[in-house]
Amino acid sequence: MDAEEFRQRGKEMVDFIADYLTDIRSRRVLPNVKPGYMRSMVDEEAPRYGEQWDDIFKDVERVIMPGITHWQSPYMHAYFPALNSYPSMLGDMLANGLNQLGFTWASSPACTELETIVMDWLAKMIGLPNDFLHSQENTTGGGVIQTTASEATLVALLAARKEVIHRVQAQFPYLSPAEINGRLVAYCSDQAHSSVEKACLIGLVKLNLVSSDESLRLRGNALRQAIAKDKENGLIPFYLCATLGTTGACAFDNLMELGAICEREQIWIHVDAAYAGSAFICPEFRHFMNGVEFTQSFAFNPSKWLMVHFDCTALWVKSSPALHRAFNVDPLYLQHENAGVAIDYMHWQVPLSRRFRALKLWFVIRSFGIEGLQKHIRNGVEMAKLFESLVKSDDRFEVPAERHLGLVTFRLKGGNELTEQLLKDLNMDGRIHCVPASIKGKYIIRFTVTASSTNTSDIRRDWQIIQQLVNKIPSPIDHLIPKGRPNKMKHLSDDFRMSLVLSNAPHNPCLINGSFAAILPLDTSRIYAMTHELSQRALNHSLLPISTRRRAKNFLSHPTMNKQMSIDPSMINNDYKKKGLVPPTSSSLPMSRQGSLDSRVEEILENNS
Ligand SMILES: *Cc1c(COP(=O)(O)O)cnc(C)c1O
Repeated sequence: MDAEEFRQRGKEMVDFIADYLTDIRSRRVLPNVKPGYMRSMVDEEAPRYGEQWDDIFKDVERVIMPGITHWQSPYMHAYFPALNSYPSMLGDMLANGLNQLGFTWASSPACTELETIVMDWLAKMIGLPNDFLHSQENTTGGGVIQTTASEATLVALLAARKEVIHRVQAQFPYLSPAEINGRLVAYCSDQAHSSVEKACLIGLVKLNLVSSDESLRLRGNALRQAIAKDKENGLIPFYLCATLGTTGACAFDNLMELGAICEREQIWIHVDAAYAGSAFICPEFRHFMNGVEFTQSFAFNPSKWLMVHFDCTALWVKSSPALHRAFNVDPLYLQHENAGVAIDYMHWQVPLSRRFRALKLWFVIRSFGIEGLQKHIRNGVEMAKLFESLVKSDDRFEVPAERHLGLVTFRLKGGNELTEQLLKDLNMDGRIHCVPASIKGKYIIRFTVTASSTNTSDIRRDWQIIQQLVNKIPSPIDHLIPKGRPNKMKHLSDDFRMSLVLSNAPHNPCLINGSFAAILPLDTSRIYAMTHELSQRALNHSLLPISTRRRAKNFLSHPTMNKQMSIDPSMINNDYKKKGLVPPTSSSLPMSRQGSLDSRVEEILENNS
């Protein structure tokens, strides 16, 4: 492809994207494909000779679009928003053309300098204290763009770890960094994102998941007790990841209470405001940040709700030297004469190289203006309020957690199975897409308003679909469980659940967002009964349920498949039902001994008389 063809193809691509985005409501938000759908659609080997662009581009509609989840659709209500916008895409188009690797100031002065400027703009837009600004005299703060919120949490944890090791060594010089590391303990609430656990796994530090209160907030008292107990056990508290806008129900930890404690204990507070941070550009939502002056670092994702497309996580720190100490390496080939005078962002992140992400942020802020962005956020909140009022007007439903910002949680009154069934039906139907969460033992559906174009008729349409599907639910899913089958799970002690959990995260035993079992598709009914029971037990203990996966959908169509896969067992029963079959009972299927969940049960029961 030469420059002339690029001019033409580029314009065609822009048209394709604009058409796609303007017509997006006509697409089913969730794709209707099975794992492996693409294999038969593309050649097995890479082409030996270059192909015509027309042939390549034709395959976008044929191969790619059938497997696309339409994140930009107003009917997308799963997870949190991941919005883009035209100025954002233009910013990245330019960044891609320039393709800068701005690791040092000298490697791309504009890349570094624009980033410091827009990060200061953004800090002021959300009302961060001045200590977080590059431009503030006599402070060492500043902002940097990271790839993801997970990475920001890790970067802050590594900086905090370096600080505490340094401090403890000054007092006890005979202790090695590794010995100190082994005693470190970090904190977050039981509602925090799983990326906190991941950061602790990487940093080899213990994590204490502190219980949230009845409104799902982390409170001072709970943290104080956890710290006291850990200190009694010889541990060194050093890091708290406070969440503003939790993933489950958008709850806000109480920074005011936590801040005072952490200041006394010299604990680094990192704020994860991945979703809610965008809303702080509206002054009326900033009360959730009260206490932010106590924090050492603060991160949110403009790539979620601020229409700067992925990837873009804004991270600010009060002490940039703390980052330098954690990441500073200085080989000769990266030295330049302005080192020490200018910012070298390579010391503020894990990788060396970095993209010119400030461009898209700059374009978005300038073309919408603060007011335009505020209008977008406020519209999202209004749409969520409308959805909430519709849910509340139907007495079959309840809203189990207070709505904050653009996230509404809802469920059917009664057992969890009803809501589980509704969500399955919703996602199978595919006209809207939602994901579940667990709130204090209740299975709930999260409904997030995402697209900036979402309007009242979209919300009414979505609500109508939900009501239609509820009317079709025949009876609680309990009826699908074969009766009269001995239930081994009844006799299991809590150690059993713990063993699953331990095998998932041996370093840090706890059940959060992601225990799953790898199983072989032989013994479906046992797996069903067991995982159902497990998730019920988990729910009763106020822990998050084992995450369900939709991949089981094609389970029955490939009975000979012997690869390990994660399954959602109730989907299997649905599949049987749809085919007019009775789900098999345990005795009608052979026992799997190849590391299946069932073989573990026998083993654990034996060891656990
Ligand atoms: C979305 C989210 C994350 C993860 O974001 P990534 O940028 O994908 O790492 C972390 N924490 C919270 C609270 C989130 O909502």
